[in-house]
Amino acid sequence: MTSTLLPPTFDDNESPMSCLLKLSHYYGANPDYVLAGGGNSSCKTENLLQVKASGSTLANITEEGFVELNRAGLRSVLDCETNSDVTLREQRFKYAILAARLYPDKGQRPSVECALHNLLPSRFVMHTHPTIVNTVTCSEKGEELTRHLFGEELLWIPYVDPGLVLAQRLDNELKQYTAQTGNALPPAILMGNHGLIICGDTPVEILEHTKRVVDTIRFYLEERQSENAFGELIQWPGELSRQLRHFLTPLLKTQLSADDNPKAVAFDASPEALVLVASATGKEMAAGGPLTPDQIVYCKSFPLWFELQPGDSPEQLENRLSKAIEQYTAEWQYKPVVVLVSGLGIFTSGDSMTSANTARDVYLDAVKVMTGALQLGDIRHMARNEYQFIEHWEAESYRRKLAQNSDSQ
Ligand SMILES: [Zn+2]
Repeated sequence: MTSTLLPPTFDDNESPMSCLLKLSHYYGANPDYVLAGGGNSSCKTENLLQVKASGSTLANITEEGFVELNRAGLRSVLDCETNSDVTLREQRFKYAILAARLYPDKGQRPSVECALHNLLPSRFVMHTHPTIVNTVTCSEKGEELTRHLFGEELLWIPYVDPGLVLAQRLDNELKQYTAQTGNALPPAILMGNHGLIICGDTPVEILEHTKRVVDTIRFYLEERQSENAFGELIQWPGELSRQLRHFLTPLLKTQLSADDNPKAVAFDASPEALVLVASATGKEMAAGGPLTPDQIVYCKSFPLWFELQPGDSPEQLENRLSKAIEQYTAEWQYKPVVVLVSGLGIFTSGDSMTSANTARDVYLDAVKVMTGALQLGDIRHMARNEYQFIEHWEAESYRRKLAQNSDSQ
């Protein structure tokens, strides 16, 4: 892995694939841009698109992690009928994408956003989920803020179902953008409740456009951040907090495990986590719904909120926790992945310590996004039909399955 937090440099005669690998490693290794298997990247010639395969990880991707696709074939994918039956629509979309592969024998499945990459005429396209950018994309004022900060130069796309619907929407928006601005394509696209797309004909353009977007939003956010935006944080005092953590960790491990499915549990009580679990607005923020598809994939749509009560005996605490998990499980048909304990911290579970840590990192990122979005106006949580689409989407369960397999290796 050639990951580094310093921006890569490029030779004049370096191959496009070598540049793409450096860009992918650079953004993929930086948790401020990408977590776990999120994000994707591509480069293209007139007739050929090379795009990240679903299940590859940007941070350590190699040339074999990219799928080669016929661009004309991929373009025709957009003519897929927008059938009212979502399952059928998504199935047709999946097979149409697979049919555009140059080497189907390799058995790769291209990123579900390959049709979107293909639409953008720039040589390189980088798609990430930067925390800073998502404070804008997950804000009710996302479009207004994009206009305020970047004028008409950048493109804003409100949240729509990823995959086919998103690519079709982008196709229309790009035509309007070109008609309005006279430019063939924007340097960057902000996608509601999702992330950032950067276009560039050279790898240096990708670095420069990304930095400009991220820095502009960061400065704007810093000017608006106030120390006490969430009021006084009510947390359990140090020693008690330590005892509670040591009592609850093994308890949750037992209660979240099933006979055939033992779980690992991770914990976080960083200042960012406490803004959620120890503030007056935290419970409401957490209950509003997920912010992005990645949050649903790694943390499920909703966390369990558990209220600690002063004076609880260990037995009472254990019983109440067990009941809360039972109720959650009856409602959702699965056990919680994220358990928020008031005044204490965030617990996450997973099939391995790696996946419990991934869920913790992804949820903590969502908390930072919520905090920023609230300071920019208000949070835009995903609507019920939006998160239900992701919960049932075959493309995401495929990605999750690959992630779990690579964890257990
Ligand atoms: Zn994405």
